[in-house]
Amino acid sequence: MYNVCHLQRLDDLSMRSQATGTGCHRTWPQPERLMPLPMDARKTPTELKVYVTSGEGVEITWSDGHRSRYDFPYLRDHCPCATCNDERQRKATETVVLPMYKERVKARTAKAVGNYAIQIEFSDAHKTGIYSFDCLREICPCQDCAREFRGDVKQTTA
Ligand SMILES: [Zn+2]
Ligand SMILES: [Zn+2]
Repeated sequence: MYNVCHLQRLDDLSMRSQATGTGCHRTWPQPERLMPLPMDARKTPTELKVYVTSGEGVEITWSDGHRSRYDFPYLRDHCPCATCNDERQRKATETVVLPMYKERVKARTAKAVGNYAIQIEFSDAHKTGIYSFDCLREICPCQDCAREFRGDVKQTTA
């Protein structure tokens, strides 16, 4: 009976060599886990504040203790809806950037969508963007998250 877990691991020698402990009581390194955790603490909010009236933006505290601040123009620019995705891709391929005055966008309303997302209606009447917490953590404007989730390296020092 006890060697069932041996048999499962025998095909992966590198994993075996990294294992600690003996026999069935070995603990295996992280990559061995086949199923993703159902809940990622980094993407689970413990506190959510949306400052619609003051226009300050959205503030989220995450289960891992991290706090994210987004202002509404930033969220508008990162709207995850299909239309905005297309537009961003189109802009990325355009070579001429026209200097354009854009009014600072605000939020008209914000509401929760289930327990996984928030939907924001912006002052430019755009309201199809549903920001899942997954997505929000990934677009957190701080450098740590840029590095962790988007692989960005700040280019300002180049
Ligand atoms: Zn959009
Ligand atoms: Zn962050």
